Amino acid sequence: MGKCINCGTDSALISQFLGVCRECILEDFRSVESHIQRAHHASREHFDLPSSPPRDKKGITCRYCFNRCKIGEGDAGYCGVRENRDGTQITPLPEDGYFSWYYDSLPTNCVADWACPGGTSAGFPEFSYSRGPEYGYKNLAVFYHGCTFNCLFCQNWHYREDLRDKKPHTSQELAQAVDRMTSCICYFGGDPSPQLLHSIQTSRLAIDRKNKKILRVCWETNGTMDSRLLEEILGIALESGGCVKFDLKTYHQNLNVALCGRSNSQTKSNFELASKWIKKREDFPLVVASTLLVPGYVEKEEVFQIAEFIVGFDPNIPYALLGFYPHFYFRDMPVTSRRHAEECRHAAHEAGLQNVRIGNVHLLGRDY
Ligand code: SF4
Ligand code: SF4
Repeated sequence: MGKCINCGTDSALISQFLGVCRECILEDFRSVESHIQRAHHASREHFDLPSSPPRDKKGITCRYCFNRCKIGEGDAGYCGVRENRDGTQITPLPEDGYFSWYYDSLPTNCVADWACPGGTSAGFPEFSYSRGPEYGYKNLAVFYHGCTFNCLFCQNWHYREDLRDKKPHTSQELAQAVDRMTSCICYFGGDPSPQLLHSIQTSRLAIDRKNKKILRVCWETNGTMDSRLLEEILGIALESGGCVKFDLKTYHQNLNVALCGRSNSQTKSNFELASKWIKKREDFPLVVASTLLVPGYVEKEEVFQIAEFIVGFDPNIPYALLGFYPHFYFRDMPVTSRRHAEECRHAAHEAGLQNVRIGNVHLLGRDY
C-alpha cells in the first residue's frame, strides 16, 4: 500500500517507493517532479550509477543513444556501460561486450514468437526450418548488461549487479555460440542500445558462420538508440527474417519520466522511423510492439493511447501486452490481474489494432 505525497490518496496501486499516483503525474507533474527525481536518484545511487546523463564540458560525447552523455575522464555514462577511462576514447570498443547468454528452445516465450517464423508457419522455407513452430531448434538469447532507462519496476534489474564486475567478451566468442540448431538470435537486456555495435558485429560474424543457412536476428529494445544504428539493425533483421521488438512503456512523456527516469521521445520517433520499413516485408512482421501492464500506472487509458499511436503507422503491427510481476523498487505492487489485462486488450482493439495478444498469461493474478 502506497500513499501519494501530492494528493494524499492511499492505494495498493501506488508504489510506496515512487510515492506518487498516476493522476498527479499526468495532471500535476510540476508539483511531483522533484520527488520523482529524488526517487530515481536514490535507486541509482545504490548501484553507483549517475543520477542523470553526465554533461562534462571536457568529456567525450557518446552517440550510441539519445542520452548523449558527455563523459569526463574516469567516469561512466548514464547506462553505466560506457566509460571514458583514459580521456581518449569511450569503452567498451565495438568488439567487446558485457553480457550473458543462454539457449532457449523454440518455440520460445519470446515477445514475438506468435508472429514470427520461429513459432508459426510464416516465412517457410526461406526464413524457417519447418512449416510450423521450429521444434528442436533453439534461440540464442543475449542478455546485455546496462540500460539507457531506469525503470523502477525493472523485470530484469539484476544486470545492475552484473555491471559491477565488467568482464568483456568479444563478438567472436559470442558468434561461436551459434551452432547447427540455432535458428535465431535475440539481443535484449537491460537494453542492447549501449552495446548495439557489439550486437551488429556479432550478427555479421554469426550469419557468416551459418554459411547461408537460416539465422534470424532480432532485437528487443526500449527504442532509445541513435536512429542511424536503428536503421542498421532494421537492415539486418529484414535480411535475416528477424524483427525489432519495441517496448513501448508509456504514451505520456511525464509518465515515462516518472516510471523510467527518462523521456520516451526517442522511443516514439524511432518507432515511427521503424514503421516506415514495415512495407519492405509484408508476409510477417519486421516491427513488433509490447507494453508491460504496471498496475495503477499503465492502465487501459494508457494502453488505448499507445495503441492509437501504433495504429497511426499500421494497424497490423503485432502488439503484446505483458503481465507485470513485483520486482525491484515496485516490489509492493500486485501482479497484473486478468481483468486489467483483458481491459487493456479491449482498449487496444478499440483503438483499431488488429493483432493484439496477452503474453505470459500464467503470471496474471486476481482482481485488485
Ligand atoms: S549509451 Fe547512452 S546512456 Fe550509455 S553512455 Fe552512451 S549516450 Fe550515455
Ligand atoms: S527471437 Fe526472433 S526469430 Fe526467434 S522466436 Fe523471437 S521473434 Fe522469432
